[in-house]
Amino acid sequence: RREAARASAHEPAITIDGTRIELVANCGSAGEARAAIAEGGEGCGLLRTEFLFLDRAAPPDMEEQRAACQAVADALGNRPLIVRTLDIGADKPAPWLPMDAEENPALGLRGIRLQLARTELLETQLRALLAVEAHALRIMLPMVCDAGELEQAKAMLETLAHEAGRAPPPLGIMVETPAAALTAATLAQSAAFFSIGSNDLTQYALARDRTNPAVAAGLDALHPAVLQLIDATVRGGASHGVWTGVCGGIAAIPEAVPLLVGLGVSELSVPVASIAEIKAMVRTLNAAQCSDLARQALTARDADSVRALIRPLMEEAA
Ligand code: PEP
Ligand code: MG
Repeated sequence: RREAARASAHEPAITIDGTRIELVANCGSAGEARAAIAEGGEGCGLLRTEFLFLDRAAPPDMEEQRAACQAVADALGNRPLIVRTLDIGADKPAPWLPMDAEENPALGLRGIRLQLARTELLETQLRALLAVEAHALRIMLPMVCDAGELEQAKAMLETLAHEAGRAPPPLGIMVETPAAALTAATLAQSAAFFSIGSNDLTQYALARDRTNPAVAAGLDALHPAVLQLIDATVRGGASHGVWTGVCGGIAAIPEAVPLLVGLGVSELSVPVASIAEIKAMVRTLNAAQCSDLARQALTARDADSVRALIRPLMEEAA
C-alpha cells in the first residue's frame, strides 16, 4: 500500500465525491522544501523560520533572512509558500535573546506577543520577506489571540510594503489558541487565511504542557474539545470567505483526516514523510460522509469515542 501511495504521490488529493484538498508540507529549510516537492508536496504550508534564529549567538540580519527565504521560494518554483514569522520563546528559546525567567513560558512572551514587544524583530523579518521574489508568498503570524495583534502587524506590513513599493503579501494567522478559534469570525475580517496549529491548540485546550513528559502523553488532538475549536475556526472563517488549513500534527494522523475534511478544512500541511500517505487517505474519502461523521464526533464523549466512530471508515480504507 505504501508503494501504491508513493506511485500516486504526484497526483492531486481529491475525495471520491470531488473535493480537492491541497496537500503541502511543513518545512524548516530549502533542502526540506526540495524534498517536499520530490515527495509530491504542492507547496509549503508552514515554513518555520526559527531555524534561522536558534543555536547562534546573534540573530540573522535582514539580508541573511531574505536569502534564506529566497532559497526556499526558489526550491518551490511557482508553488505556494507560507512563511510563519518568528515563533520563539516558550519551548523555543534563542540564546541571543535574553528573557526574564518565566513561571509558565507556554503562557508567556512568545510568538506574536514577543514580536510586538520587540517590534524591531518583526520589522526586520517583514522587510526581508518583502524583498523575496516569490510567485505565491503568504505570511502567517503565530500565537495570535485577538484582532488587535493581527491589525498591528498588518499595519506594519502595509507601511513597509508601501516603503518597498510592493503590494503586501496576504497575511494570515495560525489558529493555535482557543481565543483565536472562538473569535475566528472577528479575526476573519482582517486575516487572509487561517492555519490551525493543533499542537499548541491541543495544549491550550486540554491544559497540558506539551513539553512536560508527565502530562504530554495525554495530549490527544482527537478530543472533542479540540474538534469543536477546529469547527469554530472553519465556520468563523467561512463566514467571511476565509479558508482554513491545518499545519499542526493532527494533519498527519490518517484517522484524523476524515474529520478535518468533514469539518471543511481545505489545506493540510504535513511533514514531508507523510505527504504520500495523507494524499492516499484523502482519495479514499467521501466528503459528504466525512461531514456527517465530523458532526457526530463534535458531540462524542471523548477521544476514544471519536476513534470508535472513525474505525469502520479506516477499515474500509485499509
Ligand atoms: C502547532 O502549534 O501546531 C504548530 C504547527 O506550531 P509549532 O509546532 O511550531 O508550535
Ligand atoms: Mg505552535
